[in-house]
Amino acid sequence: MKTTCPYCGVGCGVSVTPQGDEQAQVAGDLQHPANFGRLCVKGAALGETLKKDGRLLYPQVNQQRVSMDAALEATANGLREIIEQHGPQAVAFYGSGQLLTEDYYVANKLMKGFIGAANIDTNSRLCMASAVVGYKRAFGADAVPCCYEDFERADVVILVGSNAAWAHPVAYQRLVKAKQQRPEMQVIVIDPRRTATCDLADLHLALRPGSDSVLFAGLLNWLVENNGVDTRMLAHLADVEPALLAAREWDLARVAAHCDLEPEQVTAFWQLFTSSQRVLTLWCMGVNQSVSGSDNNNAIINAHLLSGKVGLPGSGPFSLTGQPNAMGGREVGGLANQLAAHMNFNDADCDRLQRFWQSPTIARQPGLTAVKLFDAIERGDVKAVWIMGTNPAVSMPEGNRIAQALAKCPLVIVSDVLAQTDTSAFADILLPALGWGEKNGTVTNSERRISRQRAFAAAPGDAKPDWWLLAQVAQRLGFAAAFGWTHPAQIFREHAALSGFENHGQRAFDISGLAQLSDDGWDKLRPIQWPVNAQHPDGCARLFSDRRFFHPDGKARLLPFAETKTVTVNRDYPLLMNTGRVRDQWHTMTRTGAVPRLMQHCDEPFVALHPQDAIAYGLPAGTLARVQSVHGWITARVTHDSGLRRGELFVPMHWNRQFSQQSNVDMLVAALCCPASGQPALKQTAVRIQPL
Ligand code: SF4
Repeated sequence: MKTTCPYCGVGCGVSVTPQGDEQAQVAGDLQHPANFGRLCVKGAALGETLKKDGRLLYPQVNQQRVSMDAALEATANGLREIIEQHGPQAVAFYGSGQLLTEDYYVANKLMKGFIGAANIDTNSRLCMASAVVGYKRAFGADAVPCCYEDFERADVVILVGSNAAWAHPVAYQRLVKAKQQRPEMQVIVIDPRRTATCDLADLHLALRPGSDSVLFAGLLNWLVENNGVDTRMLAHLADVEPALLAAREWDLARVAAHCDLEPEQVTAFWQLFTSSQRVLTLWCMGVNQSVSGSDNNNAIINAHLLSGKVGLPGSGPFSLTGQPNAMGGREVGGLANQLAAHMNFNDADCDRLQRFWQSPTIARQPGLTAVKLFDAIERGDVKAVWIMGTNPAVSMPEGNRIAQALAKCPLVIVSDVLAQTDTSAFADILLPALGWGEKNGTVTNSERRISRQRAFAAAPGDAKPDWWLLAQVAQRLGFAAAFGWTHPAQIFREHAALSGFENHGQRAFDISGLAQLSDDGWDKLRPIQWPVNAQHPDGCARLFSDRRFFHPDGKARLLPFAETKTVTVNRDYPLLMNTGRVRDQWHTMTRTGAVPRLMQHCDEPFVALHPQDAIAYGLPAGTLARVQSVHGWITARVTHDSGLRRGELFVPMHWNRQFSQQSNVDMLVAALCCPASGQPALKQTAVRIQPL
């Protein structure tokens, strides 16, 4: 049986040989174009995550086991009462990049087309919302132009704010192999920390946290002054002059001082970018999880556009998605500020979507993005929330405030695979959902490749697919005709048909070529990159090779650089804390934390600091420290890391309260967001540290 890994956005193909219902042999799928047989340690341990210990097997209402019918009735009645009393804006859904595209599609249709609000957001907001804004502003569409094959075609690969060696290991292994085969390929890592990814780097720029956009704004100016502009590209660009004017402020000396780099380091980077035609820039959370996340994205994309390094083999601005189906969520409108099939909140798109769905209503204004959604719950404006497959009590900034908000919320519905999470503790209604290996659907990876997740294990207890739970509730709310699916392939066909509905080449996301798949054809669907339509019946590896973009005039836009205030330290909180992943864990450890061999690499939360800072603060390695921000404190084991800049700490993001009562780092992080994307700045928090 072939399926897809449920962890990161690399989207590796997995071959599974079931061994009973609770075990399976797992190997990399040799034919899958994302990994060609490779798996990282997390993927290789997937067979050990199938045990039923700790699973939520049966529905509960007010902590009492009930029948599925009773739980669905309670869910529908609870939502209906609140909508009738307080209006549709009083209810919300909060989903996850773990949901399959079919699940996401149904949730979005129910909320936006039938309840009539747009309050559906997702933990993908924490991951790549800034990249969505960056691409839409530049290209007129949320469209990643590149593909993994570009790793083998690039002359220069730049990784910005990405520890791919640990966060996207198979993609990183592919880069390692490419470099072994072509040692002349140059790799530049731009990251405040010296991470495992730097092992591959010819050049590491350990810049000041939050200064990425300045580095790329300076590059834009350098391109102009050093013959780096692709003059043929200018005909395909708009808003060039304001961007160049803003960049002119950032000469080499000013950039180097701002980024805390040597001028020679900056020049080496800019020269490599300028002199090489095939340049691929990969970025991840270090760019996106910032108060200037969207501007960081556009600063990178600007440089690629002006130099014509886009749409060509080995060239382009390539955002790596963190989650297995963050991209699928983007396709179906799983974010509060967009509609299905990449449509927007304008009258034409709203009318078009309502026509297609034949729905009684349609949301016409964007809904609440993640941080604002939980703020609204705390204020009492949102009175019912359905949380699907995610653990916001751990993963959201100011985690303690999220817990308080959920405790106050009159109706909390949680559908999940696990009985006990930090979030399910607040549930009035618990709905058991199917997990990886049990559910059937599609996911889309970082390179726009749609792959199948296939079921090979029996559903445990009363657990059901998320799309089925949502459709059953929709039927009980009176929308039976629009939610009558009996198989996920029917949902996929509807989603594919919508992508082509009155599209006329105006929207990048178009998989209308898959709208006629039979159930069997959907089941056997081979990994394919969108768009899939009459023009690209076999999918499309790279976008924009014709230099036609999705703004109405067909031109891409440069965005003028605007300096943003970043998080700064102060006398009370003199250190800057960065958060990120460790190699063998995933998100809040609800799955990987249950696999003993994945705990061997790192078995407890830690705080890393530079050895000289450790001396200054009296913190020998192996001792316990208390790390405190204005929002709370945690304890963690001290490790020393000379790859950190002085005055900066690193703490992993994973540990939930089930593992360690006082080590959930997101309790410390302020809920500051990029104003354009609503993505929280999880990477930078002012803290202090002391021995415990
Ligand atoms: Fe899974 Fe990502 Fe590892 Fe591939 S790289 S096996 S998708 S966790």
